[in-house]
Order: sequence, then structure tokens, then C-alpha cells
Amino acid sequence: PTEAALDAARESGRRAYELDRAHVFHSWSAQAQLKPMTILGAAGSYVWDGDGNRLLDFSSQMVNTNIGHQHPKVVAAIAEQANKLCTVAPAHVNDARSEAARLITERTPGDLDKIFFTNGGADAVEHAVRMARLHTGRRKVLTRFRSYHGGTDTAINMTGDPRRWPNDYGAAGVVHFFGPFLYRTEFHSTDQQQESERALAHLESVVAMEGPQTIAAIVLEPVPGTAGIMVPPPGYLEGVRALCDRHGIVMIADEVMAGFGRTGKWFSINHSGVTPDLITFAKGVNSGYVPLGGVAINGEIAATFADRPYPGGLTYSGHPLATAAAVATINAMTDEGIVDNAARIGAEVLGPGLEKLAEFHPSVGEVRGVGVFWAVELVKNPHTREPLAPYGGSSAAMSEVLGACKKGGLLPFANFNRIHMVPPCNVSDSEVAAGLEILDSALAVADTFVD
Ligand code: PMP
Repeated sequence: PTEAALDAARESGRRAYELDRAHVFHSWSAQAQLKPMTILGAAGSYVWDGDGNRLLDFSSQMVNTNIGHQHPKVVAAIAEQANKLCTVAPAHVNDARSEAARLITERTPGDLDKIFFTNGGADAVEHAVRMARLHTGRRKVLTRFRSYHGGTDTAINMTGDPRRWPNDYGAAGVVHFFGPFLYRTEFHSTDQQQESERALAHLESVVAMEGPQTIAAIVLEPVPGTAGIMVPPPGYLEGVRALCDRHGIVMIADEVMAGFGRTGKWFSINHSGVTPDLITFAKGVNSGYVPLGGVAINGEIAATFADRPYPGGLTYSGHPLATAAAVATINAMTDEGIVDNAARIGAEVLGPGLEKLAEFHPSVGEVRGVGVFWAVELVKNPHTREPLAPYGGSSAAMSEVLGACKKGGLLPFANFNRIHMVPPCNVSDSEVAAGLEILDSALAVADTFVD
């Protein structure tokens, strides 16, 4: 852009900021304390802030721009659909919705061959739970501590992070359990195999104590995202599947964040041999260009509602603009080898690069991840593993580290004491190299807080 165009953009950004502070009520925030970043525009792996500075968007916004910003094929598909038909009731057949359902079910494991479309992730989770409850005739739902399932009523009660605390009415029939997480093990394990076995034994005990005949579903993120990107140890998901089978419990994989290429496969559960009964998805399904989520349903649960109405629906279920964006996203990801790129970047560039940084920065307790889905766990003390910000909180140290990232031109995803490096699945090698270099200098700031 020319200097004049940039000036005009900055001016409109300043006005947007004033109006935002006057009239926009933000998610998860103390309104008076907010200083939100203005985004003037975006392209590929980059965004431009309110001052016109270019930053590498390794947050992928809400970990959803899996195909990068403004992918021309997706933008064109939305425009084309807008010119053709902007909206249609969910009861009517629509070509964008039909084709999106076909493309998604082609990529789900097993016989998850029907799609119920929602507006996003939380309502996908709500509907998956409703289906499981109606299918089993049971009410209780088991979910992990260290998880995120959405901001709506049941979904926030299911969530195992501190955002649940002020929202927990204790009436949703939700019981939490510990999943495997070796770095902060609850089971005193010393290796991944032990952690997997002990976490499974713990879950089996929770099921026995709650009464298997009262449990409709176990819901888990195969790779928990917001809670810290914990890749499951060998055998864990297989063990959960076997436990669900033994007790007639529906297994729901929440793939809202990890799905659609993020881990280097279409779904993160595809790294195991496990087929869940239901998959919830959103975000990456259309790179977040238009709100969309859904539930992929297996044959058995779909059959429950063959001659009995499913008691649920949404005005925008399978909205044409959203599903047209999904069709274009999935096709582009397939044609351009974008899922394979995510796998390669994780295995050869981003993963090894982060592990190298961990070697010489004492503030890095652990790096872990897969594909373009990596967490950097920052600590005050590498021996006690005391986090650089408390669980559920923030700290001046973390703010300084994130400030250093931003100053260097990197926008990562941050949560408590963690920095998540989650670029788009089609990020390039050189963009990752640039992001790692900026992170390296920001970690030098983190090191100054180490005891
Ligand atoms: N499940 C998971 C695993 C998520 O990461 C999220 C969003 N971060 C949700 C559900 C909720 O999705 P949404 O914000 O679209 O409602």
C-alpha cells in the first residue's frame, strides 16, 4: 500500500478503536481494562495492526485461519455464493451445504457419515451432548480438567479451565477427570507409557464411582488445545475407546481446534486408530471466514433419529455462505497439499526449531505439539516447574514476553504461562524461521524472570 493509503487506513483504525471502546462489549474481559489490538487487514500468514505494522499471525486468530488470511479461492467462493443465494432455511436443500457435508464425511474416520451443521464450536458440543443423552437415555457427561469446550451453558460447564469457575451452576450433569499430562502429572508418572496407563485407570475409577449406567458420554479433545496442546501418550485414546465400548458410553471427540489440518491430519484423532462416535468441529472447517461448526454423526446414533425427530435446530444450520466457504477451504487444502504441509512443518521446521530454543532458554519448561499446533510452557524455575503466570491468571513477566513478541513482529496465541505457536497450515518455511527468530529474542526476556 502507498503511504497515503496507509494513512487513511490508520485514520479509520483510530476511529474504529474509539467506537469499539465506546460500544463493543468484549468476550472474557474486564471492559475498562482492555486495550485491544486493531487489525487493519491481513493476508496469508500476516496481519497489520492499527499503526500499520506487519505481524506474523502465529495465533491464526482463534487458531482457526488454517488456510491463512484472505485465501483467494475461499474469498471468491463466498462472493460467488453471496451473488447466487445468501441465505436459505435449514429445511431446504442447498448445494453448498450438501457438498460441504459430502467433503467433510469423506474425511471423517469410520462411519461418521452424517453432518449436523451449527454456527460454531460451542453449539456443536451442545448438540453432540444432546444426541448422546437422547441416544443412551443417560444424563451425565465426563470431560477433562484442562480442556475447553465453549462458552454456552453446558459447554462452559464441561470446560475444564478456569473460565468455568464463575459460570458453574453445577447442574449440567458434568463430571471432570484428569487426562494424561506428563509434564504436570497428577499420577506421579515418570514416563509417557505410565502416564497413559495411570490416566486410564483413573478414568475407569471415575466411571465406576459415578455409575456407568448414568454416563451418556465422555467428551475429550484428542489433543487439548487452549489448555496446553498435550499430545496424547501411546494407547490413551485406544483405552478411552475400549472403556466407552465396555460401558455403552458415547465417545465424543471435540476437534473444534485440532481438526482440519491443524495437527497434520484432517482430524487429530486420525493419529490414533480410534473412531469416536461423534466428532465436533468448527474453526478450520472454513478457516473461520464465515461462522460454521458441526457434529459428524456415526450410523448408530444417526439411526436413533431415523424415525424419531431430533429435537434441536438452528436458523443458520448449514448457512450457504459458511458452507460455500467450507467447500472452497477443503478443496483448496486438498489441492494445495496444505494438510501435508502442516505435518512437514511440524516435523521438520517448527518442532525442531522450538526444541532447539528450549535447549538454551531456561524459561522454557517444555515444548510440545504436532503439525502447526505447538505450546511453549514458560516457567520461573525449570526444576520446580513453577509457571511464569499462575493457572488462570496473568503476570507482568508474561506481559513483557508477549510485548517483546509483538515488538519483534510476532503475534502468537497466549494462555496463562504458555505461548502457542499455531500458524496457518500453509505457512512457509521462511515464515516459520522468521517467527522462531522473534520468539528467540522474546524468550531472552522470559529468561530474565527465571530464579
Ligand atoms: N471446543 C474446542 C476444543 C475449542 O477450542 C473451542 C473454541 N476455542 C470450542 C469448542 C468453542 O468454539 P466456539 O468458540 O466456536 O463456540
